[in-house]
Amino acid sequence: MSPYNEPNLDKLISGRDSNDQAKIKKAFEFANKAHGEQKRHSGEPYIVHPLAVAEILADFSCDTDTIVAALLHDTLEDTKVTEQDISNNFGETALFLVRAVTKIKDIENRDTKDTSYRTLMRMFFAMADDIRVILIKLADRLHNLKTLEFMPESRRKDIAIKSIQMYGSVAERLNMGEMKGQIEDLAFPFAYPEKYAELMELVKPYFEERKKYLAKNAPILEKLLSESIANFKIDYRVKHQYSLYQKLKRKNNNISQIHDLVAFRIIVSSVEDCYRALGILHQRYKPLPKLIKDYIAVPKPNGYSSLHTTVFCEDGELVEFQIRTHDMHLHAENGIAAHWAYSEQGKSKNARADFADLAIVNKLREWRSYIQNPSEFYDALRLDLFKQRIFVFTPNGDVKDLPEGSSPIDFAYTIHSDIGDHCNGAIVNGQMVPLKYKLQNGDVCDITTSKKQKPSHDWLKLARTTEARRRIRSILKDSNKI
Ligand code: MN
Repeated sequence: MSPYNEPNLDKLISGRDSNDQAKIKKAFEFANKAHGEQKRHSGEPYIVHPLAVAEILADFSCDTDTIVAALLHDTLEDTKVTEQDISNNFGETALFLVRAVTKIKDIENRDTKDTSYRTLMRMFFAMADDIRVILIKLADRLHNLKTLEFMPESRRKDIAIKSIQMYGSVAERLNMGEMKGQIEDLAFPFAYPEKYAELMELVKPYFEERKKYLAKNAPILEKLLSESIANFKIDYRVKHQYSLYQKLKRKNNNISQIHDLVAFRIIVSSVEDCYRALGILHQRYKPLPKLIKDYIAVPKPNGYSSLHTTVFCEDGELVEFQIRTHDMHLHAENGIAAHWAYSEQGKSKNARADFADLAIVNKLREWRSYIQNPSEFYDALRLDLFKQRIFVFTPNGDVKDLPEGSSPIDFAYTIHSDIGDHCNGAIVNGQMVPLKYKLQNGDVCDITTSKKQKPSHDWLKLARTTEARRRIRSILKDSNKI
């Protein structure tokens, strides 16, 4: 008797052609048989897990190879299935994906001191090869977190903290807002139980009050917008708990400083309508100038785009609005996975091309060529990818994307290594500044150079980017030899 009697594969197969449907059904049967009588910590048949992982990916409209690999993702490690079995039955792509996922898990399980750095490095490097590996890993982690309560208590906290630190970060870099939010919120109560309880206590009355307020005022806004905009949807979203906790920490736990606990979200059909909606809101309600964010003109480095504004809304209440098109919305929720969206016509036609355009991928490929040490890699990630980013302009209007705290030295090296080596200052927004100046978002920066200038040890204190630091170190090393 099969250990799992009522498989419902509807979610996995719907909208796919008959070949793909057959392939997915076959993969399910194969995995079901391979896992046999194995059980999860929850006592459920093991197959429940790969099936759930595949369903999460189906929700992202992932392609058939990804679904197949998700169903098979634990067979290489936990059952008698061989690589040959997988490639014979499901082809090389499925095997590649399963093998990569298994490899990451292998490294994760090894209990050495730098495990997390090394894993993170492997995850990111695997990502540069094929983003689907990471999507499967994220879905795998998401489902494991959903059943974290069944894990031995001694391991829960550690798993939860790692999930936030690594998987949450990875999802964020890929602009998978919904995935990041879910992973963090599932892990939060296990990672930091006291903080979680405190937060819930603090925000509960506010949440209720805010939700009531938004429900009451939505019709007023609907009427206002419908005078000038044909197709739109108005909705509200509740801020994810862990990201709220992070934000509260930055605001010294002062909840009255948080205006987006519950925010209105306006979804329209064109970019023009985004700005039109913003204009309508600003005409009627006074905005807080500092909180008007145009992530359409200047998207976040992970690709997030939307307009944000916080206004004194009805009854003088401060309310945040997020305005975006359907497309932007899809990308904000699903991020990189949206590029992989499966479609009958194109079968993820330009996914690779889109993906290759991502700055993060290019950077990873570059790093892979010279970084071997996990802690160096981790520093690079921390400084270059995880930090807040700023946008700085050249006098010609080219945008350079830099980590917060970058100096003119970092900026100079993004233009050319020669300019970096000889930079002695900069003119920022028309004013001379020294090399120790910290660039600000939106600065226009013009580097000044001198032939006599060269990198010194002090520069290492000022440079933030991996590339600049690497170049400076190598020049210092060379000059020491002379
Ligand atoms: Mn798994």
